[in-house]
Amino acid sequence: MSSMNHILTGAALGSLSPNLGSAFLIGTLAHFILDRIPHLEYDWLPHNLQKSLTNKQKWFSILFGVFLGLLIVGLIMWIKPGNSWPIILAGLLGCIWLDIPAVFLPWFFGEQIKKNIFLKPLIQIHFFFHNDSMINFQTRLFMHLVFIGSAIAILCFT
Ligand SMILES: [Zn+2]
Repeated sequence: MSSMNHILTGAALGSLSPNLGSAFLIGTLAHFILDRIPHLEYDWLPHNLQKSLTNKQKWFSILFGVFLGLLIVGLIMWIKPGNSWPIILAGLLGCIWLDIPAVFLPWFFGEQIKKNIFLKPLIQIHFFFHNDSMINFQTRLFMHLVFIGSAIAILCFT
């Protein structure tokens, strides 16, 4: 659910931004704020069920969230064509790019890539903000849904 939240919040903030650069920058700042919400990437399930998940299932959950987020953004753009694609895309990319060095590159190329001289500081700053503490499932879900709901409202009605 966190991945879906990143996509939608980034897109919504992008749509409110005056230009591409600020959309990307605001999206990036929003990533840090969203990562402060206690979250596990496989956020759809209560803790007791999460413990039994395999790595493959966790990745499926992340990618499913990405897919669902993109689908919702795409649907809103289709229904409400007044939005401008480039600025929404800039906000969206701003809000997810930090997860590429921190999460996706190690997934594809192995853990040793985290020692890369360029990636290391990006990964460190990302995980400095990342909060994966265990709060109860309902609270976590509620916090994500507030962001997701606000983002959808912004994309639809502004
Ligand atoms: Zn992150």
